Amino acid sequence: MFEMIKEWRDQRILDNSEFTSADWQRAAGRIPILERLTDDEMNELFELATLFLADKSITGAQGFKITDKVRQSIALQACLPILHLGLEWYKGWSSIIIYPGSYKSEAKSVDEFGIVHEGQQHRSGEAWQRGPVILSWKDAKHSGERDGHNVVIHEFVHKLDMLNGRANGFPPMQPDMDPERWTKIMSRDFEDFQTHRKSGLDRYGATNPAEFFAVLSEVFFETPQKLVDAYPDIYDIMVKFFRQTPL
Ligand SMILES: [Zn+2]
Repeated sequence: MFEMIKEWRDQRILDNSEFTSADWQRAAGRIPILERLTDDEMNELFELATLFLADKSITGAQGFKITDKVRQSIALQACLPILHLGLEWYKGWSSIIIYPGSYKSEAKSVDEFGIVHEGQQHRSGEAWQRGPVILSWKDAKHSGERDGHNVVIHEFVHKLDMLNGRANGFPPMQPDMDPERWTKIMSRDFEDFQTHRKSGLDRYGATNPAEFFAVLSEVFFETPQKLVDAYPDIYDIMVKFFRQTPL
């Protein structure tokens, strides 16, 4: 019964979508990493992005104006990691805040792990436990260009990680996945990355296991060959987790 109500509600949202398929095609055309998707996947992504925009609020900070282009770009990239998982993977929070550029976080704030930080810091994005995703448009607008960096995917993947508690590089597994294998591979390769540089992998990933997972997810979707070259087992478990084969 609840399934039926949900389907009916989703269909209503899709029928009343403010953007046409041509609008979405144009928006997707500005994001090179989406080129690999099949026509069916692309249509699924457009539907998911439409439902995403109905579910989340996107507001500008410091006078930043939220245009259709901004909303489409954020929605498409945020929905790429959950393309075969579903919108319920972004449940429990509703707000996205966009700054025009990198911003100073509050003198005293709670970071993405729920830890209070003192002092000021320039940031390009953050994800709060059960709270908003915050992004700098200056950084987000260059996402999706196949350069291995994607602040949108980075922050939204933290949200997946937070589904089972604090971000720790261990999101909820798919039913057919072995959690022990995930932990073993992630721990081993995180340890390796702390002492070895890898081509195309941002050193920020060596900060802690949560950042390792987020940084490597960026590489998985942006420059998957780099991930295969550096950590083939992680590529393999990410294929099983995201249910996508970007290569
Ligand atoms: Zn992060």
